[in-house]
Amino acid sequence: KTSLLTAYASSKGQSKDGRALSLYANIAVGLEASSAFERGAEGIGLFRTEMLFMDRDDAPSEEQQYDVYREVIEAAAGKTVIIRTLDIGGDKPLPYLEMPEEENPFLGYRAVRMYPQYQHMIESQIRALLRASRHGEVNIMIPMVACMEEVEWIHQLCQQCEAQLTAEGRVTGCWRLGIMVEVPSARYLLEKAAGLIDFISIGSNDLTQYFMACDRGNRQVGALYDSFHPGFIAFLAEIAKTAKTAGIELGICGEMASDKRALPLLLAMGFDEISLSSPNIIQRRADLAQLEYASCCKLLDEVCGLASLDEVKAKIDQFWQQQD
Ligand code: PEP
Ligand code: MG
Repeated sequence: KTSLLTAYASSKGQSKDGRALSLYANIAVGLEASSAFERGAEGIGLFRTEMLFMDRDDAPSEEQQYDVYREVIEAAAGKTVIIRTLDIGGDKPLPYLEMPEEENPFLGYRAVRMYPQYQHMIESQIRALLRASRHGEVNIMIPMVACMEEVEWIHQLCQQCEAQLTAEGRVTGCWRLGIMVEVPSARYLLEKAAGLIDFISIGSNDLTQYFMACDRGNRQVGALYDSFHPGFIAFLAEIAKTAKTAGIELGICGEMASDKRALPLLLAMGFDEISLSSPNIIQRRADLAQLEYASCCKLLDEVCGLASLDEVKAKIDQFWQQQD
């Protein structure tokens, strides 16, 4: 087993019949990047930047942020890096921001919804990201997007920041914009957003929560909060198809991406990358190498036609037994 895993430590993710599916890492602090690459990551699919803003009395400066983003980009040495802008609010408060008391924080004032009020703060993050792009391409990802106005607002802000930096004589490199798809309505703006964004990443943790109307932290509804409900799989397949048709790169960075059960389905849907916690990467790459695209497509079709969560899981487990 050890030698098998060694064989998959530095190769690129692909199925038995050669369909590429890159395995990226989720990280939460800049320091994690180099160890993620040592553990076989082909890129960083989600750098959650909240930690940078937490446990302090005020927001980090542009300069402090720049140092961290640069560190990650340099560790990547040309590999893809996706950095998510601040995803605060809901269950993640910040002591130095005024957060309203809310009855339903998960349905309330959070992430991109707070950006206009705290524009100076988000501007400093975008400026730091754009400045870091001179050391390697930066993919800027916006959390919790629910409508087209938010995409337009952010796109414009990025362009303004770039113009500002240029006017100041600062060099910026290549950067791209993308959104998390974690609010179901985002599925219906992809065609319209295609001119403004280059990629999406499915936030299956929140997307499941909002699709099933089911609090991700509430154990009482834990059985409903599951990404393998047939309706959710069908919805994912629809998002994937829409993104592919619109020419938008497609990834996933929620917990579902770590799950071996999801792997054949995501391959069938045509995902370009899946992003997971780095200790799982090599094993998933070995799993992927067992799969054949056509049989995964057949499985996806069958799964979408099933009536229940249990049937879906049983069907996928049976599928994996046949691979061994
Ligand atoms: C998600 O919602 O799936 C996601 C990756 O974001 P977070 O878990 O940080 O909300
Ligand atoms: Mg989320």
